[in-house]
Amino acid sequence: MKNIKLKNLTSFRLGGGARVMYCLEEKNAPLILKNLIKKKINYFVVGGGTNIIASDKGFEGVIVKISFNKIQVLKSGILCDAGAPLMKLVNEANRSGFAGFETLAGIPGTVGGALFGNAGAYGKEVSEGLSKIKIFDGSRVRWIAKNKCAFAYRDSIFKKRPWVILQALFKLKRGDKKNLIKKSKEIICIRNKKYPPDLKCAGSIFKNIPVKSSMGQKLIKKMPPEKIIGGKIPVGFLLETVGAKGMRVGEIRVSEDHANLLINNGRGKADEVKTIINNLKLKIKRKYGVVLEEEVRYLE
Ligand SMILES: Cc1cc2nc3c(=O)[nH]c(=O)nc-3n(C[C@H](O)[C@H](O)[C@H](O)COP(=O)(O)OP(=O)(O)OC[C@H]3O[C@@H](n4cnc5c(N)ncnc54)[C@H](O)[C@@H]3O)c2cc1C
Repeated sequence: MKNIKLKNLTSFRLGGGARVMYCLEEKNAPLILKNLIKKKINYFVVGGGTNIIASDKGFEGVIVKISFNKIQVLKSGILCDAGAPLMKLVNEANRSGFAGFETLAGIPGTVGGALFGNAGAYGKEVSEGLSKIKIFDGSRVRWIAKNKCAFAYRDSIFKKRPWVILQALFKLKRGDKKNLIKKSKEIICIRNKKYPPDLKCAGSIFKNIPVKSSMGQKLIKKMPPEKIIGGKIPVGFLLETVGAKGMRVGEIRVSEDHANLLINNGRGKADEVKTIINNLKLKIKRKYGVVLEEEVRYLE
């Protein structure tokens, strides 16, 4: 495809253009990626585009969209293409009586994108039931075991290596179908209030801060204990204390409900997002002496 608008590829609905986008299918993926590398053409992999801030200037290279999305339910787990929506995986797992994904219901995006950032919610992460991942490593397709993926809170080896995730094999424990489906429904209800379906955003902008990290140790004494959730200091709370809620630059604003959420009214620019991000980082650095880390990725 030619002359793509990045705002149409991302849930934040902003960004300039890209001249070319390849929609990768399972069979042509390695060949197309190999050719791009051989010709030294810069490329950026996009899944669901739900965790991306795309530059207003657009992207000079090629956008590579992971378009294969098969899900196969096996005896002891699920084999899933990287381009499958995470929600489809949650539903398949629930319906098949496999536990582990039910609390991830409602996280938008693809399985590839979720594994890249080790997406999670309500105490669970997508990598938990993972057995191995099929990747294209720049020269060949191969499987890597979970213990080689360096999964941590919203982190993985994929943030450091230019590998493309193609498929994932999950080995899952059994659960009660009815309960799993019920749990997912409950979570979707909660999430729909937090993120109405037409909200133009990229989810949480910054990562929360694990108490055990050096940043966490620096902050812990200043935190009311009841604010610490699941061993993490919520960045939303820190941002509230520096008056982030309702802050606005141009057409982008910090949500009145969640200080770690930026919302585009539809006419926003990536530069406005970046100005707010930099302002917030500065305020937190001044007040707490720590530097916030973005969870969102920049496409530029
Ligand atoms: C309303 C809303 C709510 C959200 N709630 C949550 C939440 O509760 N928990 C949470 O963890 N996240 C949440 N997010 C963030 C986002 O949905 C997740 O990070 C999601 O897993 C990203 O998947 P994606 O396919 O959209 O990735 P994209 O946004 O397309 O890409 C994100 C990064 O992953 C890389 N990538 C994507 N696919 C591949 C691949 N196949 N191989 C290699 N690299 C790849 C991209 O290059 C990019 O760097 C939310 C976002 C929104 C908009």
